[in-house]
Amino acid sequence: MSAATNRYIIIGIIVGIIVGSILGWYFGEGMMWASFLGTLFLNALRMIVIPLIVTSMITGVISLGDVRKLGRTGIKTILYYVATTGISVTIGIILVNVIQPGVISGSEIAAQEAMTRPGEYSFLDVILGMVPPNIVKAMSETKVLPLILVSLVFGGIVTTMGERGKPLKELFEAGNEVIMKFVHIIMLFAPIGVFGLIAGKLAAAGGADFGLELLKLGKYFITVIIGLSIHAVIVLPLILVWFGRRRPLKYAANVMQAIITAWSTASSSATLPVTMECAEEKNRISHKAASFVLPLGATINMDGTGLYEAVAAIFIAQLYGIDLTISQQIVIFFTANLAAIGAAGIPEAGLVTMVMVLESVGLPIEGIGMILAIDWFLDRFRTAVNVWGDSVGAAVIAETKEIRTALS
Ligand code: ASP
Repeated sequence: MSAATNRYIIIGIIVGIIVGSILGWYFGEGMMWASFLGTLFLNALRMIVIPLIVTSMITGVISLGDVRKLGRTGIKTILYYVATTGISVTIGIILVNVIQPGVISGSEIAAQEAMTRPGEYSFLDVILGMVPPNIVKAMSETKVLPLILVSLVFGGIVTTMGERGKPLKELFEAGNEVIMKFVHIIMLFAPIGVFGLIAGKLAAAGGADFGLELLKLGKYFITVIIGLSIHAVIVLPLILVWFGRRRPLKYAANVMQAIITAWSTASSSATLPVTMECAEEKNRISHKAASFVLPLGATINMDGTGLYEAVAAIFIAQLYGIDLTISQQIVIFFTANLAAIGAAGIPEAGLVTMVMVLESVGLPIEGIGMILAIDWFLDRFRTAVNVWGDSVGAAVIAETKEIRTALS
């Protein structure tokens, strides 16, 4: 997406928020028609989520190369990704439960909507649900966990097929590109969609609860920012010192250019060339480590996105007055991790994969409309943390003994 388009989307979303707010506030019920536009936009996002998961997961796994040759370095890299994202998601889940940004007494969104409350959901059900008897049916019901599992195994097998697997590799890579462009096209309508969601929401609330709405979003925003800060300023530097044997301040200063680029582009992928340059030229990370860890990390290692997915999903549950059980929160933990892996390194990709987190525990997808208003802004912070996490990972993996032999 070009810089100009990006600007159009961001400015458009802001205008959409402002116009939607003013009209929704002023006309109240008279703006109910606008929610149609919001629903249309949300439907477009939901429509694209299944092909997005399939193509991005399969191409992600294929980009690992022959899985049999990966060896210990590959395993350590994946472990680093999984562990750090797991930690950040945990920080998010703890914070959102403690701060409870969506709980404001007596203000749950339309009590009848809480009727969509999911039934009891045991952990065994989740495991059983990962291996459905009919994958096509699972897809049609937007059951994403089995889809991710199948995509991972499918991609893994393709990497073992050498030449014979090449056409599939190319097909899915091209398919992934098409889907990304599709997402770009959908995002072009984000300003209108956001306008519709905000105006429709305000109309439904009679225009009166706008202040309360802002207050709720403000607390949600602060919750995500506190979580991201803890992860970026405390957790990742500790990992950097212990496992990467680097001085965090100096290392961070050398990566700053990449972090700022990430903040201004809201895209890990677009930032990759800068991240690689900072790692190799400024922080003297070996090319072997950087060229392996960073590109893969830009696609699948997203600490900031994982944290945000978990906070946002639980925040939405709180807004709807839905009490999530411990097992449901555990499901959110896993799906937030997977949603972070599945999200492409492009602006607001996390918003699309958010659908899978909500679907996994039966939360209303319309809830995304509540966080959409500030998502473009939060995206910048989480993308910066995503890139910082990748950079720390490069230092950690560069320190492993195997890096010299395994990749040579
Ligand atoms: N924009 C993020 C990235 O590129 C992904 C997301 O969380 O939306 O890393």
